[in-house]
Amino acid sequence: MEENKMKIEFLSKSQNEGFARVAVAAFISQLDPTIEEISDIKTAVSEAVTNSIIHGYEDKGNGTVFIEVTIIKNEATIVIWDNGTGIEDIDLAREPLYTSKPELERSGMGFTVMETFMDELKVFSEKGKGTKVVMKKVFKSLS
Ligand code: ATP
Ligand code: MG
Repeated sequence: MEENKMKIEFLSKSQNEGFARVAVAAFISQLDPTIEEISDIKTAVSEAVTNSIIHGYEDKGNGTVFIEVTIIKNEATIVIWDNGTGIEDIDLAREPLYTSKPELERSGMGFTVMETFMDELKVFSEKGKGTKVVMKKVFKSLS
């Protein structure tokens, strides 16, 4: 199998976070991932989707979250984006323990978790326009 792609979109409601991570995991399963690899993917997708719902759309539930997954050989690229508030300072936002919502008891570890569990993380954002997270993972089983 050389190349494959899927795209989904859903309303920014927290109950859709579970759907999103299972949908991505199901698509990725064609790469014959290990349990650990599947778990890494689910964790990273959860963090990115939760960020779009809570920060991007400020938990109002009326925005759209988009996910596109591309598989090329043994590598998966997962792009998750929103058309929400955007991030003013991306470098600051990516720092471990930085959160703009300490009052909601967030730990500021979402981006750090994505970085840890994936092989590559890129964040693009513009204030008032939205945020896009691009994550890559190389699957060892097929390499
Ligand atoms: P945690 O993920 O540990 O619950 P957190 O969401 O605050 O806490 P990160 O996921 O690392 O921490 O994100 C850091 C900060 O980046 C957020 O507090 C928020 O200000 C900003 N941010 C992240 N994703 C988005 C997004 N999609 N739209 C707008 N702002 C975002
Ligand atoms: Mg977060």
